[in-house]
Amino acid sequence: MELELGLSQTTLAAVGGIFGLLLGSFLNVVILRLPTRMYGEWRRDARHYLGLEDEPQTQVINLSKPASHCPACGTPIKPQHNIPLISYLFLRGRCNACGTSISIQYPLIELLAALLAGFFIYQYGVSINSLYGIIFSYSLLVLATIDLHEKLLPDEITLPLLWLGLFANLNNHFVALNSAVLGAIAGYLSLWFVFWTFKLLTGKEGMGYGDFKLLAALGAWMGWQILPMVIFLSTAVSALVGIGAIIFAERSKDIPMAFGPYLAMAGWIAFVWGDTILKNYLVLFDLRY
Ligand SMILES: [Zn+2]
Repeated sequence: MELELGLSQTTLAAVGGIFGLLLGSFLNVVILRLPTRMYGEWRRDARHYLGLEDEPQTQVINLSKPASHCPACGTPIKPQHNIPLISYLFLRGRCNACGTSISIQYPLIELLAALLAGFFIYQYGVSINSLYGIIFSYSLLVLATIDLHEKLLPDEITLPLLWLGLFANLNNHFVALNSAVLGAIAGYLSLWFVFWTFKLLTGKEGMGYGDFKLLAALGAWMGWQILPMVIFLSTAVSALVGIGAIIFAERSKDIPMAFGPYLAMAGWIAFVWGDTILKNYLVLFDLRY
């Protein structure tokens, strides 16, 4: 009986993983095109504001247009070369037409998307919890990757993520609604406060407004109680990586580092293991949870 259940759980997780691969392909498109579209809109708005004429309409870029093509030679990608993960391995990471190497990021995102979907479905079966878990994780994955490249956390993702967190907790799904609302407010304000303190003391900007919104979203999903842990984890890991990069990669300490990926990682850890971490931490100091 248990074995049967275990088997079907694994099978479900595997099917979920295959769907995850396909969704991962879609996430790659969002990661690639959302910033480009945003820059286009900003340019257009800026020209309007300055009273300049619109630039001649170039290529339309949205999530479905243009069709997938090699960024180096522009050759459209054939359907059989567009299978998530498998095509990358089959083509040995090179464009079939021009031989330019394809970024490892594409198969990595697809693989991560598959593992995340499999993980949640294995844990929670086909349920609303899995759906929430997958949407939450995919949003963080896209945000972290875009921030890594563009030093930008698009409002198009952080704000809906915040609203969805509040919506999920309308019926106290993850935390009580008042914890979620306070979490959103305190998440925004705490990084806002750190930002301005840091800026007044050093004259430098250590993070951006997108980071405040991302932490607000994490607070909306998990409540204000989780914020100290997320802030501690993200700053600790980013400080370690930053110091490591300065020492080992001789990276200048004046080059700003994206903070979003660390917030996203810390947020994901808190989402999955937060309760366990909090309980063990409090037991350690002989406090009751
Ligand atoms: Zn090519």
